[in-house]
Amino acid sequence: MNAPIPQDLAARAQRQAEVVAALTDVLPASCLLWQREDVTPYECDGLSAYRQKPMVVALPETEAQVAAVLRVCHHLQVPVVARGAGTGLSGGALPHAEGVLLALSRFNRIKHIDKLARTATVECGVRNLAISEAAAPYGLYYAPDPSSQIACSIGGNVAENSGGVHCLKYGLTVHNVLQVRGYTVEGEPITVGSLAGDCPGPDLLAAVIGSEGMLMVVTEVTVKLIPKPQLARCIMASFDDLRKAGDAVASLIAAGIIPAGLEMMDKPMTRAVEDFVHAGYDLDAAAILLCESDGTPEEVEEEIGRMTTVLRMCGATATAVSRDEAERLRFWSGRKNAFAASGRISPDYYCMDGTIPRKRVADMLLSIQTMEQEFALRCVNVFHAGDGNLHPLILFDANKPGELERAEAFGARILETCVEMGGSITGEHGVGLEKINSMCVQFSPEELEQFRALRRAFDPAELLNPGKHIPSHARCAEYGKMHVRGGRVPFPELARF
Ligand SMILES: Cc1cc2nc3c(=O)[nH]c(=O)nc-3n(C[C@H](O)[C@H](O)[C@H](O)COP(=O)(O)OP(=O)(O)OC[C@H]3O[C@@H](n4cnc5c(N)ncnc54)[C@H](O)[C@@H]3O)c2cc1C
Repeated sequence: MNAPIPQDLAARAQRQAEVVAALTDVLPASCLLWQREDVTPYECDGLSAYRQKPMVVALPETEAQVAAVLRVCHHLQVPVVARGAGTGLSGGALPHAEGVLLALSRFNRIKHIDKLARTATVECGVRNLAISEAAAPYGLYYAPDPSSQIACSIGGNVAENSGGVHCLKYGLTVHNVLQVRGYTVEGEPITVGSLAGDCPGPDLLAAVIGSEGMLMVVTEVTVKLIPKPQLARCIMASFDDLRKAGDAVASLIAAGIIPAGLEMMDKPMTRAVEDFVHAGYDLDAAAILLCESDGTPEEVEEEIGRMTTVLRMCGATATAVSRDEAERLRFWSGRKNAFAASGRISPDYYCMDGTIPRKRVADMLLSIQTMEQEFALRCVNVFHAGDGNLHPLILFDANKPGELERAEAFGARILETCVEMGGSITGEHGVGLEKINSMCVQFSPEELEQFRALRRAFDPAELLNPGKHIPSHARCAEYGKMHVRGGRVPFPELARF
């Protein structure tokens, strides 16, 4: 990229001074950062290959301050990017160069736990795991459990509709949130959903959950809590063939079993993880499955028996059932540390997130093996098999010229293959900036226009998190991958590059 010419620098400095002056009227000095060294920690989220310093970081402490920041930004037409814990993997919280990064980490209070209604009302910056910790004395917990749950915020979970190991049985964020409060781009209060569990009118709660910070800024979330199961046990099953392992996933669900977790790792991933956490995985297996059952002891015993039968019928070469809680946690420790383990075997990795119908799991893994040859990069696989939600981790070295670009092309090919197999370009990590081109593959121009119309109904000037999630027509034309329907390329009047 060309260095900015001095006039641009001067104009930027002037704009920054104008925005800082306006925000100083509504925020204490301790809540505002704009010096280069102060804003640098906010320049990326978990997708660290993409970096951008924000013009200003605002760290409000009260809802009144959030509203005031939004009013100022709306008045000055400044883009606003909300940020929770910054663990997102799709660049969703990547700052805007001319914008305000609205960091919501100070909203970390658990406001109320209602043990009768089994709900928790928490501020948006509360960590996912902190909700379950606070609910534990009542025998309750919050089910959606992203692997990042020790750090990620509930506001980020809402924006990304996050999932986790237990979402196969208990549902994603969208199934576990009752009500969301926050502020519109104009700084007006807005509540979507209802504590009653159902509310009349269009389901705006479902629209907001997964909207990646583009419809509103969330400040408070009321989630459902469920009783902690009396018992959980986990089966670790080995397979000597990827196809048999993939078919076992589909067969378990087809048998009418909804495991509390159903995860898969291929051999390269198993090896990387075993070296790291010594979970006791079978290093000779082509793939291993972790299948969890939870409930009363009687339910668990019956389900473990049924799952073991199905796994053996599908060709499992070995099955082991956790004998106690310590062993169950050991089985899971490998899965939970899979990303970290990948960091030990490669200088960089690029984590993709797509979904496929679960019966295509084996086809997809075999396709990825072919792509490894084509792109001359290794890929290790760990995923929420029961949901068909893949997490291929493409290993690369950003210091080697061209490897990042090859990893990106490899990732885009995986996502396109997901769409071809009847799946989608994201399962839980969101589109953000990372997968914005792949949206052009998944959706027709008409469908994308509907998304834009929804967005503009909330935010006509498109100031909330601009440039993410929904690609423009021009962007799709440039990417050159718009759907061809009925042999006709849409928007033929747009130049292709
Ligand atoms: C090691 C690791 C493992 C992970 N495992 C999983 C997993 O198993 N499942 C899964 O789903 N994800 C996973 N993730 C991804 C990530 O943790 C989730 O997407 C999480 O929900 C992001 O939360 P956050 O608070 O960090 O949000 P951020 O990264 O700060 O922001 C994410 C998006 O939410 C928006 N946002 C944040 N807060 C608000 C708010 N209050 N109001 C409006 N918009 C807001 C941002 O603008 C951005 O678009 C993982 C990440 C890592 C690093």
